[in-house]
Amino acid sequence: MNQPRILDGQAMAQEIRHEIAARVRELVAGGGRQPKLVAVLVGENPASRTYVASKTRGCLEVGLAGETLTLPADVGQETLLRRLGELNADDAVDGILVQLPLPGHLDERAVVEAVIPEKDVDGFHPENVGKLWLGQPTLAPATPSGILELLRRCEIPLEGRRAVIVGRSAIVGKPMAALLLAEHATVTLCHSRTRDLPAVCREADVLVAAIGRTAMIGPEFVREGAVVIDVGINQVTDAAELERLFPGHEKRRRGFEKRGYSLVGDVDYTRVAPRASAITPVPGGVGPLTVAMVIGNTLTASLRRQGREA
Ligand code: NDP
Repeated sequence: MNQPRILDGQAMAQEIRHEIAARVRELVAGGGRQPKLVAVLVGENPASRTYVASKTRGCLEVGLAGETLTLPADVGQETLLRRLGELNADDAVDGILVQLPLPGHLDERAVVEAVIPEKDVDGFHPENVGKLWLGQPTLAPATPSGILELLRRCEIPLEGRRAVIVGRSAIVGKPMAALLLAEHATVTLCHSRTRDLPAVCREADVLVAAIGRTAMIGPEFVREGAVVIDVGINQVTDAAELERLFPGHEKRRRGFEKRGYSLVGDVDYTRVAPRASAITPVPGGVGPLTVAMVIGNTLTASLRRQGREA
């Protein structure tokens, strides 16, 4: 049975954080200002709170200032926009991110557009999206940037190769397509209406799954020797399903017993891994890189705002 290369996002994220920390030290030693991220959290969604905490904590660990602005779940649109306006105007703030999803009464699009593009470390502002597709300097969304960084650092060639992405969201699938295209891959973007998805996926040298469906990508989607990137984060809460997906996997079973769930990707790892030449695990693959790239974007935004080379 083939043993694929396991692409360790955790170790790579650590490496990226060390590099960011060194750059921040150099910036401050050279008379520059300490970069600062403000994460805006509306309400008490536990998952959102965890994500925000990991980003601000990540900033502090590498010598950046990181703060959370927590607003009540029933905050009005006007108040939220006013607070974002204040952060836009605050010279000490380099990066602003608004943790999504927002409560239903808020206009998410207007909120995303209210963060000025120079401070939009999520890369969701339409101006930054346009620049990404035009190949102009911008702040690119963290998850696909992290995947690209992983592919680069693992020296996985992209030029001239077939990349297939499943999922066309604005935060993962679409920006992933733009980034892979810029690396000269031939890109196919698939979604729920794609006909004969397994056959399209089997054309991939590099397959990116960003769907949000537990273990949907089975071996019939994967060409022998393909590189498989699993973006999905799904909670499996059924012990029998977990055992079917990871038979006899002691570590998973123990984690499940402790927490009541196990995090599983969009790829059926056990059955796909033997066909792949390289694969990202879940957890420990794409996830840790996302946080590192948000921090990296904050540094980039700050360097540009301070008139230094990013
Ligand atoms: P969205 O729900 O926004 O998009 C899902 C995409 O998958 C859509 O384009 C949808 O198609 C497509 N899709 C759904 N079902 C099928 C199907 N049966 N066949 C083919 N395509 C399908 O999800 P996100 O992009 O936000 O997230 C995707 C996954 O990645 C989630 O599990 C999420 O938790 C995870 N994620 C992980 C991150 C990380 O840091 N590791 C960061 C962000 C997300 P259509 O457009 O036609 O509806």
